[in-house]
Amino acid sequence: MQRESAHFLVADTLPALAEKMNALTCSHDIDPAVLQTSVDAFDAHFAPGRDPAADLQVQRILHARQWGPDRLRTCVPAPLQQRGAGPFIAIHTQLITRKSLGGLRTDLHSRVLDATDAPIPGLYCVGEAAGFGGGGACGKRSLEGTFLPGCILTARAAARAIASGY
Ligand SMILES: Cc1cc2nc3c(=O)[nH]c(=O)nc-3n(C[C@H](O)[C@H](O)[C@H](O)COP(=O)(O)OP(=O)(O)OC[C@H]3O[C@@H](n4cnc5c(N)ncnc54)[C@H](O)[C@@H]3O)c2cc1C
Repeated sequence: MQRESAHFLVADTLPALAEKMNALTCSHDIDPAVLQTSVDAFDAHFAPGRDPAADLQVQRILHARQWGPDRLRTCVPAPLQQRGAGPFIAIHTQLITRKSLGGLRTDLHSRVLDATDAPIPGLYCVGEAAGFGGGGACGKRSLEGTFLPGCILTARAAARAIASGY
């Protein structure tokens, strides 16, 4: 990602990182002094005599690391400015809508229903547009990682209904 993504910014110093972040967004949003203060504040948790776990973020990372898969993908918390820890990396993120918690009401043939629960002729709806990754296939208690099957299920139901002239 560091090599190939324009959204991964890498620098050896915090001022250089701030400069790259501002250049990417054509702004002055990142004040290098504030960035330095924030990083110093984080690193201060690791000063002799301090308990790093007193910091909520560190505490949560340590908690996550008690579970095998999270242990693999999280680093042991350490000072960001520790010798040899560099370079600094900033990742440009954007807000997205991850899940639609509602959608058009459908029946088991993926036909869209009107206010009286009657199918609207010729109108089908599948996947996230039908809500909860497919017409509420998982109900209110849908779990992370279970949305794509609902999308496929409702798409197949719609295709079958269309093919058989529903
Ligand atoms: C970060 C993230 C992680 C996820 N992880 C998982 C996971 O691990 N397991 C899992 O099961 N589910 C996961 N999901 C949910 C799953 O990805 C979605 O439920 C699924 O992709 C929805 O598929 P869809 O075809 O209904 O909608 P989308 O994939 O949103 O497709 C809709 C398409 O319509 C296009 N479109 C929109 N408007 C128009 C228009 N006016 N004209 C033409 N095209 C248009 C869009 O560009 C898009 O390509 C995740 C979702 C996100 C965002």
